[in-house]
Amino acid sequence: MTEVKLFGTLFVVATPIGNLEDITLRAVRILGEVALVASEDTRHTRKLLTHLGIGTPLVSYFKGQEASRSEPILKRLLAGDDVALVSDAGTPGISDPGALLVKKARELDIPVVPVPGPSALTAAMSVAGFEETGFHFLGFLPSRANDRRKFLKSHLAEKNLLVFYESPQRIVATLEDCLAILGDRRLVLAREITKLHEECWRGSLAGAVADFKAREKVRGEFVVIVQGGGAVAEPTAADLDALLVWYRDNSGLSLKDATRRIAEDLGLSRSQVYQKALAVWRMQ
Ligand code: SAM
Repeated sequence: MTEVKLFGTLFVVATPIGNLEDITLRAVRILGEVALVASEDTRHTRKLLTHLGIGTPLVSYFKGQEASRSEPILKRLLAGDDVALVSDAGTPGISDPGALLVKKARELDIPVVPVPGPSALTAAMSVAGFEETGFHFLGFLPSRANDRRKFLKSHLAEKNLLVFYESPQRIVATLEDCLAILGDRRLVLAREITKLHEECWRGSLAGAVADFKAREKVRGEFVVIVQGGGAVAEPTAADLDALLVWYRDNSGLSLKDATRRIAEDLGLSRSQVYQKALAVWRMQ
C-alpha cells in the first residue's frame, strides 16, 4: 500500500550569515524543491535564490506580523504543499522570526524538519576558545540602558558563559554596562563572522571598552561571549592602563573623577587606581 501524504512539510532552513558558500547542499536542494519559501525579507532572500539559480515563489513572513502571516502558510501546508522557512541570515527562530509558525505547525501535526547550517551563535562559540561548554544564550539585550542594566543584574550570578547578539550602534554602551554591572570579566567579541573584515576580539571587558571606544567607527554585527560569574578576571595591568589612557584622552573627566568611575566600575580600590592614573596622566 502506498503511503498517502496528507500534509506538506515545514522545512526550517539555515542560510549564510555572510559568506554565500556556507549554504549546505541539502538547503539548496530543499529551497529548489518546495512549493513556497517563507522569508523574513523577500528582496533579501530573492538575491540568495537568484545566486543559487532557484526560482521558487517567495512569501513574506516577518516579525511583528507573524500571527497574520502564518495563516496562509499553514493553509498551504495543510493542503499538502512543502514550505521552507528562512530568515535574513542564519537559523530561523534564533532571535529571528519563525517560532510562532513552527509552534502552530506542530499544534496542527504538520511535520517540521530542520535543515541545519550557519548560525552566528554556534559559529562564534566554535572559535571563542573558552573551555566551558555550558552557556546561557540571551538573544538581544534590552535596547534601553536602564532595562539593559537591570537585565544584566539579573544574570550577575550566572555561572555559565553569557552569550548575546549586539549591533554596532549599541556595542560600546553595552560593553560599558557589562563592565559596570558584571565587573571585569574575560570576553570574546565575534564580529563580521565569515565576512571580509571578520574579527575575533579576545580580552577583558575593560580592555574591550577602551579599544572599541577608541575606534573611529564600529562596523558589523557582533556576538558577545562573556565569562560567567564566579570566575571574575582581575583586570590586568595592561587593561587598566588602556582604560586610563582612554579616559584621559576621551572622557573629559578629571584624573580624580576618572579614578572614581573606574574604581567603581571595576570594583577596585580608589588608591590602587589613583596610583596608576597618576602615572598615565604624567605621560601626557
Ligand atoms: N538567526 C540568526 C543566526 O542564527 O545567526 C541571528 C539573527 S539576529 C536577528 C542577527 C544578529 O546575529 C546580529 O545582530 C548579530 O548580533 C548576529 N550576527 C548575524 N550575523 C553575524 C555575523 N556575520 N557576525 C557576527 N554576528 C552576526
